[in-house]
Amino acid sequence: NADLAMYVAKGRGKGTYAVFEPEMYSSSLESLSISTDLRNALERDELLLFYQPIVDLDSGDISGLEALARWKHPVRGLLSPAEFIPVAEESNLIIEIGKRLLFMACAQAQEWRKTLSPKLQMSFNLSAKQLEDPNLVPIVTEALAMTGLPPENLILEITESMLMGNVEATVRQLTALRKQGIGIAIDDFGTGHSSLGLLKRLPVDIMKIDRTFVHSMTEGSQDVAFVEAMLNLGDSLKLRTVAEGIETHQQMRLLQELACPDVQGYLFAKPMAPSDTETFVSTFDGLPE
Ligand code: C2E
Ligand code: MG
Ligand code: MG
Repeated sequence: NADLAMYVAKGRGKGTYAVFEPEMYSSSLESLSISTDLRNALERDELLLFYQPIVDLDSGDISGLEALARWKHPVRGLLSPAEFIPVAEESNLIIEIGKRLLFMACAQAQEWRKTLSPKLQMSFNLSAKQLEDPNLVPIVTEALAMTGLPPENLILEITESMLMGNVEATVRQLTALRKQGIGIAIDDFGTGHSSLGLLKRLPVDIMKIDRTFVHSMTEGSQDVAFVEAMLNLGDSLKLRTVAEGIETHQQMRLLQELACPDVQGYLFAKPMAPSDTETFVSTFDGLPE
């Protein structure tokens, strides 16, 4: 029981503790069956990517897409990353899965650069273990070389909670990737996953404001002030800022008033399968009225 609780605590990150609860049994059985299935999923090609557009608020154009993992489970149906990425992380399968997904995202981006827009940028979420993997740089380089995607069209998203061990080694890897022209984005900025400390320590190009701030933004509210402060911070550090999780017109208007460069959220589109993404991007005609 103590062992189970320890794994739960480890999963929550550094410097935490967990007290054993009976529910931990069922969730560990669940992750056991998921981790067995996950091995097969790779062979059976059940892992796929959905894509969510990132919209330039100024021009009203789609500036990029974020690749978001899905698992087409034979019995459970379509699973979201929260249901299998943490299990994949525990079992180290994430390295293989992450590599497969990265190649998939790069190949798709290169195809869409030809059919949709040559400027299209593809954002990909790295996992903690991928970021720690000393082979990260060669893997990314190979993915670009094999698919023909120019490095300028790839953005890698990371969060602070991924920085487990050797921060210096991570900085070296990110610096090497940026030298090639790849963009680095801080995801979920403003939450416990990503803080100011991270901006100071890591070389980055893009800051993604977490959706919890956008969610509770109303005229004159404190969260508007927070978002404004984060946008100013992004400006002074010469970062491009993306606000995540825009669901309403009001949120979009507030962000326009604050001159937020890029936005992403259900108001524009939910993450979609590749064919729907293609239709969406090719028929998109500006910001929703
Ligand atoms: P994230 O990178 O912060 O991705 C944004 C999440 O917010 C996505 O959830 C997206 O569907 C959701 N979202 C977008 N717009 C809205 C909105 O307007 N309202 C609300 N309520 N939600 C919105 P999703 O696809 O379930 O992904 C969850 C997380 O899983 C991602 O958070 C990312 O950290 C991780 N993830 C996704 N794909 C991958 C992957 O390929 N590899 C790794 N390692 N992690 C991934
Ligand atoms: Mg992300
Ligand atoms: Mg995020």
